[in-house]
Amino acid sequence: MTRYIFITGGVVSSLGKGLMAASLAALLQARGYKVRIRKFDPYLNVDPGTMSPYQHGEVYVTDDGAETDLDLGHYERFTGVSAHQNDNVTSGRVYRDIIARERRGDYLGATVQVVPHVTDAIKQFALADQDDHDFILCEIGGTVGDIESLPFMEAIRQLRNELEPLQTLSIHVTLVPYIAAAGELKTKPTQHSVRELASLGIKPDMLLCRAEHPIPQSERRKIAQFCNVRAEAVIPALDAPSIYAVPLQYHREGLDREVLRCFGISDAPEPDLTRWNDVIERHSHPEGEVTIGVVGKYVGLQDAYKSLNEALVHGGMAHRVKVNVRWIDAEIFEQAESDIAAQLEPMHGILVPGGFGERGSEGKIAAVRFARERKVPFFGICLGMQMACIESARAAGFAAASSTEFGETQEPVVGVITEWMSREGLEKRDAGGDLGGTMRLGAYEARLSANSKVSSIYGGTTAISERHRHRYEVNSHYIDALEKDGLIFSGMSPDGLLPEIVERPDHPWFIGVQFHPELKSKPFDPHPLFAEFIGAAVDQERLV
Ligand code: GLN
Repeated sequence: MTRYIFITGGVVSSLGKGLMAASLAALLQARGYKVRIRKFDPYLNVDPGTMSPYQHGEVYVTDDGAETDLDLGHYERFTGVSAHQNDNVTSGRVYRDIIARERRGDYLGATVQVVPHVTDAIKQFALADQDDHDFILCEIGGTVGDIESLPFMEAIRQLRNELEPLQTLSIHVTLVPYIAAAGELKTKPTQHSVRELASLGIKPDMLLCRAEHPIPQSERRKIAQFCNVRAEAVIPALDAPSIYAVPLQYHREGLDREVLRCFGISDAPEPDLTRWNDVIERHSHPEGEVTIGVVGKYVGLQDAYKSLNEALVHGGMAHRVKVNVRWIDAEIFEQAESDIAAQLEPMHGILVPGGFGERGSEGKIAAVRFARERKVPFFGICLGMQMACIESARAAGFAAASSTEFGETQEPVVGVITEWMSREGLEKRDAGGDLGGTMRLGAYEARLSANSKVSSIYGGTTAISERHRHRYEVNSHYIDALEKDGLIFSGMSPDGLLPEIVERPDHPWFIGVQFHPELKSKPFDPHPLFAEFIGAAVDQERLV
């Protein structure tokens, strides 16, 4: 039987429900259970693909090409389980499907309503593809009381009634604030939030209470009493020194034990937490440090580069070094008086990440030039690889080299792609079509040249699969000229048409990739490109 754990949030947003879900899933997995995590987002966008990173943070892309909430990144990083199209559902997607069916006449003249049509669709998403999972965790975005989340809450209420009595569990995540003037923790917001949830027909079985100060037993009992749960079901969730410390911390507070008890499972194996102990050990006892300059556009909001930041941390774990990330706004390198050298000289590695639009592109190109000329380890990801190709093209004499993303150009070293091969066959799109969901998305294979640096980084293989999210592509007409000048195209799509990886053999570490390797990096399995990039930065540090 597949059991369901519904995770809601109360009091304030940003309580870290996603991390909590990921950590609980990791703990259940450590006990040998098969888990899957889903996210329900109540907003009306069909997916976050068209939202600004400033609004929503990073868009996380799955193997099967879904553009999803960044919490799915946490889920994958903590469990290693690849998320799918069906693991992130928004109100917009639910309504789009319902309205399309209504237009087709599928409802046979019925009045289409939130209950039952919208709630049924939500329930179907929750129940789909159970396979042989022991637990499916469903996190509901937003905060209880939001108008938008009501249909989701109603769907949960119905499911809790319809499934077996010990088949579902409701965990409510709340905040227990500390009032410094009174020197007290306050439980009232939690009580109100639970009451709000109860008014929607959902009685939580467990409470996870975020707090900055330890919650004494007396307060736990008080919360339990007022909120109608056992005292053991009130789990304090204090701020952790690192996100990777969260699973172990929640385990010490009894989270997984209490979850199993609520389900009536008494014969669960003890968890094997070796993997998490090792991650924490590596993370908290670094033997050195390196500084990586990330030259990008959305540097004001770190959530915009969530997976990238984590992948750099994982690369550091692989070498037992602390990675200091300096987020540098590419636009500052476009100002006449800017001193690039002063900014970039302290860096042991320079990374130009993915991005969209022209703003800051000349600054990124300038950063690539600095890295190439000064032989500083350079890693270009997606737009970063495109900028590296433009920089190399300019150095090779194509002075007007640019991307058609930034406007018309005489030398389209990067241009829009309108046709490409996917597993399903030829994909086509209009250059002027919809922006949403029309990029080259998801996992695609690439072939690596034998004897290339990337092939050795990937352990000698010549076939890899990585996740993509881009509309533009390096123009293969320039390959010969660029290779003559030292930029080698060491990875191509299997049909040999689309450049996937470039590298410079005349440089200690200069690699650009059209895909997003950061999406597949895990703390217990750092992505080889990040591990080797940090390794090159460590070598650089030793040289100084
Ligand atoms: N803007 C570029 C493109 O669409 C790069 C996208 C990215 O970096 N994810 O091709």
